[in-house]
Amino acid sequence: MSALFGTYMRDEVAFERGRGMRLFSGEGDEYLDFMSGIGVNALGHNDPQLVAALKEASEKVWHVSNLFTVPEAERLAERLVEGTFADKVFFTNSGTEAIECALKTARRYFHDSGAPEKYEIIAFTGSFHGRTLGAIAAGGNPDYVKGFGPVLEGFKHLAPGDISAVEAAIGPATAAIMIEPIQGEGGVNAVGESFLKGLRELCDKHRLLLILDEVQCGYGRTGKLFAHEWAGIEPDLMAVAKGIGGGFPLGACLAKAEVAKSMVPGTHGSTYGGNPLACAIGNAVLDRILAPGFLEHSDKMGQKLFWHMHQLMQKYPDHVLEVRGKGLMAGMKIFPPVRDFVTRLRDKKLLVAAAGDNVLRLLPPLILTQGDIEEAFEKLGTAFSEYAAENRNGSKD
Ligand SMILES: *Cc1c(COP(=O)(O)O)cnc(C)c1O
Repeated sequence: MSALFGTYMRDEVAFERGRGMRLFSGEGDEYLDFMSGIGVNALGHNDPQLVAALKEASEKVWHVSNLFTVPEAERLAERLVEGTFADKVFFTNSGTEAIECALKTARRYFHDSGAPEKYEIIAFTGSFHGRTLGAIAAGGNPDYVKGFGPVLEGFKHLAPGDISAVEAAIGPATAAIMIEPIQGEGGVNAVGESFLKGLRELCDKHRLLLILDEVQCGYGRTGKLFAHEWAGIEPDLMAVAKGIGGGFPLGACLAKAEVAKSMVPGTHGSTYGGNPLACAIGNAVLDRILAPGFLEHSDKMGQKLFWHMHQLMQKYPDHVLEVRGKGLMAGMKIFPPVRDFVTRLRDKKLLVAAAGDNVLRLLPPLILTQGDIEEAFEKLGTAFSEYAAENRNGSKD
């Protein structure tokens, strides 16, 4: 019996080491990683540049607190500001904390701009924003708030996709609209560029803030640094994490100057957030993501991945029901129960994740090659053909 909280349905496999796209178990089995620890290891495992950055940083200072200047954090923030819509950055250790920072900043902004009655945030069904009390209230998933009441007030949930329904829901208390450009845990649903554009227009028209949760879809995963760039819009606040640390706990809340200006000393903080070790690694990750050709590679591999998913759907139309997502944040709604299928693929030494709505989720490291994609789809093809053979009576196959 494990001494850990029973909060996770853990696979019994334990990995001992990794290299690039591969993970190796204690038994010496080699696995092809198409989930990156849930979208985290953007540069794969044991990347020589990241290891060098960690080693170098570990021999300087690990932690000094935010009572002192942290040059690595200043530098990472400047680079994020340079590469995005944002003027200001607050570093966290996780995605849910980045969301908390965005929620607090939005409320504080209206409080300080003479509109304290504006605190409500319009969010969407099928979202996932993390596990803190604020984030579960924002996500609105009944399974995640059950038993943890009273639920934090001030969130309204709508189905994504219907702009006029969003406009109808805006009232005198509305402060912001918050959305994942591509819903991750909820089932890899891209909400669509025109919907995102519509939300931006509504926010401008009604003087609301647009908050994007790019914790999973950001940091190069869709072939642009951030997924909202595809829609040609800019948010006012954005939560980032997962890929930003390449496996080291790091997150960030990015904001426009006007919005961040009420976050003065005393309003918010984090002991660890943006410490020298995390930010040194964050800078090393960014060196690679911003290197010429990196995002183009991610884009190209994403297109290949989608081509293979469509092929698979054509070949197994009874078992692959829908292809979803964008770039290297990809999902297939499948017929076989997804948890069993994830295990079946694990037995074939391919690691993938599940998402809501019986979706098989592919979140490979962004460094993957065409060969890795072909290998993964060979395994996927075999798994579907075996499943089809075993279930012949129940399907047309
Ligand atoms: C993972 C995730 C979070 C929460 O991040 P943690 O680091 O687990 O707190 C928030 N939003 C989205 C979209 C995520 O995928």
